[in-house]
This record gives sequence, structure tokens and C-alpha cells, in this order.
Amino acid sequence: MSATVDPARVAALTAAETAAFVAAHPACAAEATTAREHLTYGVPMSWMAKWPGPFPPVVREAAGAHFTCLDGVEHVDLCLGDTGAMCGHAPAATVAAVARQAARGLTAMLPTPDAAAVGAELTARFGAGPSRVSRWQLTLTATDANRHVLRYARHLTGRTKVVVMDFCYHGTVDEAFATLDPAGRVVERRGSIGAPVPPSLTTLVVPFNDVDALRAALDGGDVAAVLMEPALTNIGIVLPEPGYLDAVRALTRAAGAWWVVDETHTLCAGPGGCTAAWALEPDVVVVGKTIGGGVPVAAFGLVPELASAIEHRVELEDIDVGGVGGTLAGNALSTAAARATLTEVLTPAAFAGMTARADRWADGVQAVLDDAGLPWHVTRLGARAEYAFAPVPPRHGAEAAAEDDFPLQQLLHLHALNRGLLLTPFHNMALMCPATTDADVDRHTEAFAAAAGALTA
Ligand code: PMP
Repeated sequence: MSATVDPARVAALTAAETAAFVAAHPACAAEATTAREHLTYGVPMSWMAKWPGPFPPVVREAAGAHFTCLDGVEHVDLCLGDTGAMCGHAPAATVAAVARQAARGLTAMLPTPDAAAVGAELTARFGAGPSRVSRWQLTLTATDANRHVLRYARHLTGRTKVVVMDFCYHGTVDEAFATLDPAGRVVERRGSIGAPVPPSLTTLVVPFNDVDALRAALDGGDVAAVLMEPALTNIGIVLPEPGYLDAVRALTRAAGAWWVVDETHTLCAGPGGCTAAWALEPDVVVVGKTIGGGVPVAAFGLVPELASAIEHRVELEDIDVGGVGGTLAGNALSTAAARATLTEVLTPAAFAGMTARADRWADGVQAVLDDAGLPWHVTRLGARAEYAFAPVPPRHGAEAAAEDDFPLQQLLHLHALNRGLLLTPFHNMALMCPATTDADVDRHTEAFAAAAGALTA
């Protein structure tokens, strides 16, 4: 709970904002009633129930940084499909490539020439500088990419355990639904649904930014891989302290464990994610969501030695039933989308503009906090920024989780939604796409000032 805001005031404001939302969205409400008859939760995927308000806006169409709901309300989209639409909605080059490819065949379980081009482009971004990541495989989701990497890591190292960061998120990867209890034991993360086995059998959990804890976890000699984001982004943003990622590299190398850097969200740091921006040397990079401009496609890249070890240590006869793969992975449509998106949409020039907009957003939010006397902080990571309900940035996931205030967050998101602004439902986070304008950002700053005023009046 944020110590700075009275919960009764939050409840009263939420009631007023809920009434305003319902009144302004009769067509979305009618659609939600119909959907309830046919869809569990009334939505096609359960996460879509987590929006603030009694039902979500239903999208009529989306373009660039905006979408319009069935009630004709135009919104600035600062969620951007929780990174899936970081390129903006319907980017022209991706749409053209998809249309071209759709007419030439969607999937054949055979490569198209776009595949090698995508691999080359990913290497140019994530295999530059000290990184040697340069051999890629495509999947449909970042979840699948992470799963495949963990299987390969176990297979090649002959070890059983995976290290993850406390309060991480890497998709629906069983090993990652683990957290530390107050006594420091590995337990199921709160809300974990139907875990196959107790996570302590598969997973060691360490706090982010804690070198000693990682050293201790690797000491047992049973760790196949350390899977982590270079900056946590799924419990709010937690940035690495100076020297931390160098220590992770040195410790994993010494322990013979793979260092897997999941850049699915941190791609916001620049064209080659944090790997390029911070000159990291991972064994494996995972990217997803964004690289197809919204079309499902993800990838994992390996250093050459690991790629060739895989080629030698997996029997061709069993390759289709070994636990790594996917019938539609690397399909012609996704691959065409990825090629166009990487080469024509997510360009270095686009990142420069996105980062400038994110800085403008962060500056605006900080100025509002200062004016209102709210002791919260703002964190930036390239094209992404967020505010959190504590005066100083957290060092690790548990600290970040302790700062959370779900009712206050829901209110702020609903308040924004009623002013035509969509924030990422899981955090107070805003992401910029190439089409986001200064005016879009300023619209948020203005609405946020009104929210801060209502909270502190
Ligand atoms: N890795 C990270 C860091 C993520 O944030 C996510 C999704 N939020 C994933 C992997 C999984 O992506 P997907 O749901 O597209 O499989």
C-alpha cells in the first residue's frame, strides 16, 4: 500500500471513474455482454480481464500510436500490446510484407529466403561488439523460445537446475513461476496455476542485483542456465547496478552455466536491446513479441559453439519429438513480417525518436510528482518509462513488489482510460512506438496532473 494516498479516497475516486467509464462506453458494454455468453471471462485470453473497469474497451481499429474503440473514442496507446505493438499498430512496411506473403503461401514447414535474412539482421543487432550471438532459431512466442533454450541447456550441460531472478517473468515457462519465501526458500509464485512439480525441484531463485546469492546458487554445480532479463521489466523496471551484469557473466562462465538474456521487453533499450546498448556477452539472447510488428514470431540466438553442439548432440531421427519445436514456428508469414519489421520499422532512427518521447513522458510525470508532493519515482529504459509508488528505485524484485498498490494502480489506469490513454495493465508503464508524438505524451502528462490533483486535494 502506498503510504502517501488515503485508500478511502482511492475507493471514492474509483467509483466515480467507473461510473464515467460505463456511461461513455455503451457499445463496448453491449459487446462485453455478448462475449460473456461465448468466452470464459468474456475475453479471448484471460489477461484481457485485468483492465480496470467492469469491461475492457473493445477495439474497432488501430493505427500508429492510437486505437479507436467501438464507442468511437480515440485512445493514445501507451501499452502497445504490452510490447507486441512496440512498432505501432499496422506499421506500413510490415502490413505490405504480410499482404505480399499471404498471397504466396502462409506456411509449408520449409524455409523461405526471408529466414536467413532475419537471422542476419538479428546477428547485426545482438551479435555486435563483444556479443557473439549469431545462430538463430525462430518460434512463435518468447515463451517457446525460453522453453526451448532451457531444454537445450539441460541437454547439453547434463544438469537439471535453472536459476531465475525473484519476481521475474519469462512467459508461461514452468521453471520461472518460483519465488523466495521470507525464509529464503524456493516456493511457487503467488497465483501460479497448476504447477507440474514443486518449483524447488527445477529452480533456484536469487534476488536481482545480488552477486553473492548468484555465486551461492551456482556453487552446487547443478545449474544448466541462468535465465534473466538484463533489467527486470515485469515487476516494474529494476535496473542493474554498475558491475552487476559483468559479475553475472563472470560467474556463469566460471560455473559452466549458460547465460540466457531475455530481451523480449528490454528491446526497448535500443535496436540491439541491452545486449548492444550495454555491450553484454550472453551465451543466448531471446527476443519476441515485437520483431514481427504484431505478427506472432520470436527467436533465440546462440553463440556458434552452442549452436554446433546442438547440431551434433540432437539426433535427426528424433528432432521432431524431442521437446523443442513447433509446427508453425518459422512459418512464411511470420518470417516475412519479421524481415520487414526489423529492416524497415524498428530502425535505429525510430529508436532515437521513441527514446526522446519516453524521456519527455518521464520528465512530465516527474514534474507532476514534484508539484503534487507525491514521493514516487520514475524509471527509464530507452523507449519505456514508468512511475512507482516509492521514493527510491527498488534494487530487486521483492522490493519492487512491496511498493505495489493494486487499487491505486487500477484507479490511475481507469482515470487515464477515461481521458483516452491506455497504460500497460500490469504496471504504471508507458511504451513509445515510432508514431508516438509529443502531443500524445503531453496528453498523458495533463491527465496525470489531474489524477495527482484529485489524489492530493
Ligand atoms: N519474456 C519476457 C521478459 C516477457 O516479458 C514475456 C511476456 N511478457 C515473455 C518472455 C513471454 O512472451 P509471450 O507471452 O509472447 O510468449
